[in-house]
Amino acid sequence: MNVYLMRMYATPNVDDLSTITRARYAHFSAVGTWWPIPANVCAACNSHDQRLVEPLLLQWEPSAHVIGDFSWDGPFGFLCVAQPHVVSFFRDEQFEFAANTVEFVTPRRSPSRNTPIPYPYCGPKLSWIESTSFVHLDRLASNVGVEMSCSMCGTVRYRFATEGLVIRRGAWDGQRMFRITSNGRSHATFVTDEGRCMIEGAGFSNVEFSFAGRIIDE
Ligand SMILES: [Zn+2]
Repeated sequence: MNVYLMRMYATPNVDDLSTITRARYAHFSAVGTWWPIPANVCAACNSHDQRLVEPLLLQWEPSAHVIGDFSWDGPFGFLCVAQPHVVSFFRDEQFEFAANTVEFVTPRRSPSRNTPIPYPYCGPKLSWIESTSFVHLDRLASNVGVEMSCSMCGTVRYRFATEGLVIRRGAWDGQRMFRITSNGRSHATFVTDEGRCMIEGAGFSNVEFSFAGRIIDE
């Protein structure tokens, strides 16, 4: 069974950056909120216990003025917000997710030819789609090694991975949407063949899938 990464571009590359202002759909920056502030910071390794919590503070970037069914925090981002019919779909089909609140903040740049979404925002209601289920990789088979481990606070960080994933069937509870434990607090979200098929079947705009790895039998 295959696993795919969800994002704005299936195969993002540097050219996407130069063409981002001509993208078909608006994208945003996530400007908070990280909690708690200040965090408990480890004196030895500087690790902290901050994580992103709702409301997601969303700032539209100068880009397209069309809001897709999904919107992302830039071409390489993993955070996504979605319109109400997408939320209903995920809910009806029992995907593993939370629909968190979004607040809109003043755009940084003055309106230009690349018109951002008008502020104050009066478009469709958007919810931050946060995958709530986590799956362990077979880290050895996925070539995901330890990048940092701290004897003081016990923090262990692994190589961040969005491809080459190998998941043992026994480590997977049948979720169609999940994150990877070794990716820490990253919101990189993965779906199975079935999940991808269902989302594509619904015909939503501005969501792509790139091959990320496999769920294999023991
Ligand atoms: Zn530490």
